[in-house]
Amino acid sequence: MLLAGALALLVVLPLAASPLAHGQPEAPALSTVGIRFLVARQGDAPIADGAWLSERADVANRIYAPAGVSFRVMRADALEPGHEHIVTRQDRNVLGSQVAPDVINVFVVASLADVDVEGRALRGVHWRSRLAPSGHYVILSRICGPTVLAHELGHFYGNGHSLTPGNIMSYDRGGVEQPFFDVAQIRRIRSFARRFQRTRELVPVASPR
Ligand SMILES: [Zn+2]
Repeated sequence: MLLAGALALLVVLPLAASPLAHGQPEAPALSTVGIRFLVARQGDAPIADGAWLSERADVANRIYAPAGVSFRVMRADALEPGHEHIVTRQDRNVLGSQVAPDVINVFVVASLADVDVEGRALRGVHWRSRLAPSGHYVILSRICGPTVLAHELGHFYGNGHSLTPGNIMSYDRGGVEQPFFDVAQIRRIRSFARRFQRTRELVPVASPR
C-alpha cells in the first residue's frame, strides 16, 4: 500500500528570507509548493533522515529565492519495499505508481544506476513516467550532495544543462559558494511555476510572501 509504512511528519521548513546569489533582484513571490519525499528503507531505518532531507530543501530554497519559488517539505513517507535499488528504466517508471497529486514527489533510494552507461552511478535524475498522474518526479540517490535536489528541480521546472561554471544546471561547480540560476532560467522557472499552478499540477501550500 502506498502509505502503509508512512513515517511521522519529519520537518516543516520555515520560510525565512534567503540571501541571494549574484546580487539578483528577488522576483515577486509566486508560490510555495510542497515536496513529498518517499524514502527507501534498509533494515528498520530510512536511508535518509529528516536532517538530510531538510538540508537539501533548504539549499533549494536559497537557490530558488531569486525566482520567487519556494518549497516546503510536507511529508516523508516510506518507499514501498523492493525499490531500494533503481537499475533499469522500468525500475524508474514503476515508481510513478507511488506518486501523490498536488506536490513534487522526490524518491530517495539506496542506489541509482545510469541507464546509459553501464556500471556508472547517478546522484539524481528527473524522470517522466506515464504511471504518475503528474507525469514526472525526481529520484535522488543517497550518495547525492546537498545541491542535487535543486539541480533536478531545475529540470522539473523546464531547464536543461548549462555550460556556465557555478550555474546550478552545470556539472562544473566553478568554485562558487552558492550555485545560481541565470536570468533566462529564472524566467523559465517562473513560467513553469505559473503553468503548474494554472493546471493545478502543483497546489500552493501557502500564500505568497
Ligand atoms: Zn541534470
